[in-house]
Amino acid sequence: MPIAPASTDTRDPVWRDVLFMLLDNIEAAGALTPQLTQLVARIRAMNVDVLETQADAVIALRFAEIDPAIAPFVMAALQVVWTDIASRTALSDVPYLDTPGVCPVCGSVPVASVVRVGGSYDGYRYVQCGLCATEHHVVRAKCTNCDSTKGIAYHAMRTEDDIPADETEEEQAQCAKNAPLKAESCDECGTYRKIGYQDKAYDFEPYSDDLASLTLDLLMGDAGFRRAASVAVARTYRRRSIGPRA
Ligand SMILES: [Zn+2]
Ligand SMILES: [Zn+2]
Repeated sequence: MPIAPASTDTRDPVWRDVLFMLLDNIEAAGALTPQLTQLVARIRAMNVDVLETQADAVIALRFAEIDPAIAPFVMAALQVVWTDIASRTALSDVPYLDTPGVCPVCGSVPVASVVRVGGSYDGYRYVQCGLCATEHHVVRAKCTNCDSTKGIAYHAMRTEDDIPADETEEEQAQCAKNAPLKAESCDECGTYRKIGYQDKAYDFEPYSDDLASLTLDLLMGDAGFRRAASVAVARTYRRRSIGPRA
């Protein structure tokens, strides 16, 4: 089990206080658009049960139940609380999990992975949790969702304007190889997750660079891959993989 799972039974209600502090700060920052004023008022009027249900849905990625307008605020508050918990967790208390693809601290799925530079960790790949920001090591050329080492491929993206008309295929291949951010796809589970390379872009930051590369998500969707954002994907694969021995 993760050491601080973000499930309902154990979830610290302090996240709701953080949520209202965030709303206070938004309102104090200056004039809001009418839509945002309405949204803030709507969140303030929500009762505890509705907020907790939304938190459950966001954490479990049950998209059909998520209220998309309030989800960024709910997630932001939860991230503050769980990042605090993770920052106070001793490394020696963090368990090794059997389930691939989830955070050993909170059990959530990663937002992206980073290949580090520097020191004894140079070239090591870490996945960063989407909730508590914990980074944990996953060897490279392995699916961060299902643990498979087969059928891994990398996809880079450039806009039309970035591609010189006279570029050769070889130059194109070299350019794709040097891309600071790619999508790492897996044929075994049909998902992808973004990977950033610090030696190409030292300031790579999983949360913001993920948002800044939404076009890559569209292209990956067109290519038939879905975003590795569901624990169910990992569990389904695991059951299937042990089928003959079960
Ligand atoms: Zn986590
Ligand atoms: Zn996979």
